Amino acid sequence: MPELPEVESVRRGVDEWTAGTTITGAEVADPRILGTTSQRRIDPSAVSGFVSAVTGQRILRAERRGKFMWLSLGEGAVSSSVSVASSVPRPELGILVHLGMSGQLRIHSPDEEIHRHTRAVLHLDSDRELRFVDQRIFGHIGVQPLVHGYGRLVPASAVHIAADPLEPAFDPEAVVGELAKKRTAIKAALLDQTLVSGIGNIYADEALFRAGVHPLAVPARTRKSRLVAVLESATKVMSDALAVGGTSFDALYVNVNGESGYFDRALLVYGRGGQDCVRCGTEIAKITVGGRGTHFCPECQKAPRYR
Ligand SMILES: [Zn+2]
Repeated sequence: MPELPEVESVRRGVDEWTAGTTITGAEVADPRILGTTSQRRIDPSAVSGFVSAVTGQRILRAERRGKFMWLSLGEGAVSSSVSVASSVPRPELGILVHLGMSGQLRIHSPDEEIHRHTRAVLHLDSDRELRFVDQRIFGHIGVQPLVHGYGRLVPASAVHIAADPLEPAFDPEAVVGELAKKRTAIKAALLDQTLVSGIGNIYADEALFRAGVHPLAVPARTRKSRLVAVLESATKVMSDALAVGGTSFDALYVNVNGESGYFDRALLVYGRGGQDCVRCGTEIAKITVGGRGTHFCPECQKAPRYR
């Protein structure tokens, strides 16, 4: 699965190529892409509903929270336009795009060959097309109303998702305050998307290792300075991944899951069970926490004494 830094990289590419354009038409080659992993039986009217909902709409910008990405739609000027700064439009609809396991967003010229796994196409007035390619159809695209959730407008299905560490709405003090009430394992708490979004299994392990906190530590019994360190580590490790990986996509090709679509994740602990710790040489342990494979160094991340 793409992690937050990869989704952010795609968002930046999509924003660069689509913000300020108007959607002149749309096609859905496979209606299943309008569904979700639990519901792929799509009424044929959903296709015409999607096409009519997006056609004529202006893309204001590409946005993201956690691993949710959407194009906010609206009338009028684009917020980045300097000359009309007084009339920043308020979006009401968004096109939510879930990349799933194998989804890619690609920008093409209309005359370029259509990849056979292309499931949906948005035609833009910039003489480009935004194509959603998804071999296995674990992804999703759909129109949703935008609603207020955790400090900003988000698609309705993301209303329960808390702010992620890379967005301005993220309030570290408030999150640490909530985290400090949790009596579950801290690894499980970091994956709780109603507390903080966008920290997936990989970066949860990396953040705990860098902060020197055991994955089974109970937040309510952990010093707040340690909780702050974990959140700061999560923010840093994802920012670093973005900085390294976000430089490499081709102008006309926005890709999250092609041959080189994943960032070269500089992982210190995740996936290294049985190998030597990069810091102290102790063998990295692997356990299961909340059903998720969890890697840690028993020396650098001492087990909490209250257990
Ligand atoms: Zn170690």
